[in-house]
Amino acid sequence: MKLDTAEFLEVFERIASIGATPDGGCERLSMSPEDIEARALLTGLLEEEGFAVWREPTGSIWARLEGEDPSLAPVLVGSHIDTVRNAGKYDGLLGVMLGYWAMRQIRREKIPHRRPIELVVFPTEESARFNYPTVGSKLLAGRVGPDKLRECIDAGGVSLYDALRAQGLDPDDTEPGRRRLREAFCFAELHIEQGPSLESRRTPIGIVEAIAAPTRLTVEITGEYAHSGACPMHLRRDALAAAAELILAVEKIGRFESVNHSVAAVTRCRLVNESMNVIPGHAVLGIDIRGIDQDSIDRCVEGVRRSLRKICSTRGVRGGVEVVSKDSPVQMSPTMMHAIRKCCEHCRLPYHLMPSGAGHDAMNVAPLTDTGMIFIPCKNGVSHNPAESVEPSDIEAGYQVLSELLLDRAKHR
Ligand SMILES: [Zn+2]
Repeated sequence: MKLDTAEFLEVFERIASIGATPDGGCERLSMSPEDIEARALLTGLLEEEGFAVWREPTGSIWARLEGEDPSLAPVLVGSHIDTVRNAGKYDGLLGVMLGYWAMRQIRREKIPHRRPIELVVFPTEESARFNYPTVGSKLLAGRVGPDKLRECIDAGGVSLYDALRAQGLDPDDTEPGRRRLREAFCFAELHIEQGPSLESRRTPIGIVEAIAAPTRLTVEITGEYAHSGACPMHLRRDALAAAAELILAVEKIGRFESVNHSVAAVTRCRLVNESMNVIPGHAVLGIDIRGIDQDSIDRCVEGVRRSLRKICSTRGVRGGVEVVSKDSPVQMSPTMMHAIRKCCEHCRLPYHLMPSGAGHDAMNVAPLTDTGMIFIPCKNGVSHNPAESVEPSDIEAGYQVLSELLLDRAKHR
């Protein structure tokens, strides 16, 4: 199906402009007045179009386009419309709007399809306000319970649980939404890549193979505080110099494992009791390792431990590694990847198989039903920033593949 780009962008802008910032970006933190306004506008658009809309009790929004056989499990498409602070327009919203648009065109042009097609908009995908990512889809997937929402507190002391209740929602009433998600035939999410791979390859479509999972480590290095003038060089036990060696070692480990799509970096470095005239005695580092291959992730962690041991023994400092969090990478469904590839070939669009470095709602849905993700390029790989930008031709390509995919899946018995 071909996108009427001008008309689509006009409707897209109506929602994207809610919470608009002066520099062309937008800000719709989860359950903020702007997010609530955008949710209401979208719900109105869906109802106007004649879809059966369900305001699910825990905050997701569902719209259904009936198929020839209403008894069959539906094909799901969706993403999120909340944003980070000072965000771009396309993260999340583009996937929701293209899904809506495909359903609208299928309905208006009376294109036959056996299965129902449903749009699902997950709430609170971003962690910007409540400090916990993809919590809406985690709740519906049964990965967390309503208690978790009580623990998600914003800077003003408001819990996500209370924010939902204030909207007349009931975060304890999870079962209807969970059942609907569980019983879906498949789930498709289109999203901007949020990285530079597709743009640098001049490829309009990315087919996500797996969503990377973070493993986070805290490393403490203890040396000896000493006077930075009086202590001779050969007697120093400099914790920061040891940390510097580890930072470079982690980069080397990440580069080495990048052939397996892993990445690793020291992302935080803190000195305890730092002072201009004191040799640092205590450094605390944060390390973020991500990948889609568990063995490769494990090798990165082992590499960090080995490097630290070596640095400690040559420099006479002590070091300790703590694994702060450890998530498993999520594989996308081979059936969905194959179906997306067929759609790309049918539309004569080049594609690239790739991992997703960022997390998405799709990773929570994947254990429940066949799940696939389509990426399209964004300018310079920039996201979570007002400079986020997508070429209309890439939106058109994404739409062709997504709409083709929905029809292909909806034909299946
Ligand atoms: Zn997103």
